[in-house]
Amino acid sequence: MSSTSKSPNTKYNFASDNYSGVCPEAWAAMEEANRGYACSYGDDAWTGKACESIRDLFETDCEVFFVFNGTAANSLALASLCKSYHSIICHEMAHIETDECGASEFFSNGTKVLLVPGENGKVDLDAVEQTVLKRSDIHYPKPRALSITQATEVGTLYSVAEMQAAGEMARKHSLHLHVDGARFANAVAALGVEPKEISWQAGVDVLTFGGTKNGFAVGEAVVFFNKELAFEFDYRCKQAGQLASKMRFLTAPWIGMLESGAWLKNAAQANSCARLLESEAVKIPGVKIMFPSQANSVFLELPPAALEGLRAAGWHFYTFIGSGGARFMCSWETRTDDIALLVQDLRSVMSRL
Ligand SMILES: *Cc1c(COP(=O)(O)O)cnc(C)c1O
Repeated sequence: MSSTSKSPNTKYNFASDNYSGVCPEAWAAMEEANRGYACSYGDDAWTGKACESIRDLFETDCEVFFVFNGTAANSLALASLCKSYHSIICHEMAHIETDECGASEFFSNGTKVLLVPGENGKVDLDAVEQTVLKRSDIHYPKPRALSITQATEVGTLYSVAEMQAAGEMARKHSLHLHVDGARFANAVAALGVEPKEISWQAGVDVLTFGGTKNGFAVGEAVVFFNKELAFEFDYRCKQAGQLASKMRFLTAPWIGMLESGAWLKNAAQANSCARLLESEAVKIPGVKIMFPSQANSVFLELPPAALEGLRAAGWHFYTFIGSGGARFMCSWETRTDDIALLVQDLRSVMSRL
């Protein structure tokens, strides 16, 4: 890693939801799993139970795997849906396109990612259809998967009806449907739905179910609702360096988080902080909200001098994600006091313009 010297006063509170620590429930579950010896590579009691907990949560039989991060979860899942001459359709701002260093193409041995536009970070289904129908000759990589992100990269949500419409479009054109759910918990909490309603009931074949940003130390679950697509996925994980030998430390937190309800509580806390920030930010003259804040982020369009002013006041945030605006991301650890401090500084920099 390169060493960047940051002031000790840097306020990281809103940089990303992965700047947060490990929540107490996930930590306690790891501690509980840390009492002596256990079988390795997932042959332990916690891993079996974590799979069961996830099946219970989704109220269906499904195949569940655990990997270290979202890039692996997405790209290995997509690789199992496609052959090398296929293509994956996704939004032009999708994480798999912009933030995974070509991992989907790499792990699928060349499957091409095809981009479609769409308002508020959501794929325009007409554009998906046009992409499928545009060519059917042998010279074009055959569309085989549709990948959507829930909650999206810009903090918006697909409603239940929109998920169903995506599922229908996928079925109509024989595409497998993948959901990047790095923030799936935030979507469930915000929509107030059962997890099944925005997954298998809507036609989702495989979901990348995020743990890290929800308060885990590390780890994402890959959930195959279409069990046939999980064929030999364990080998795929192993070959990609994604089979944890001390698997219980990736899986025990899923039990603790799901049994305690902390996964939803954490997501709801992050969401409500974003809602609060949005409601305060709109009141400040000159501040423009770029996308409706439906999950746990708020994107603000701010004059360059205001961005500079906030940075000078110690705030650290991203401006390269998705849209180019200033992204303020809330996590399970965000407190209303953090929002108050940020809003105070925002008001002050805007008034000085
Ligand atoms: C954070 C994130 C991921 C996972 O990223 P990793 O750094 O590989 O864990 C995947 N998709 C989205 C939309 C994300 O925000």
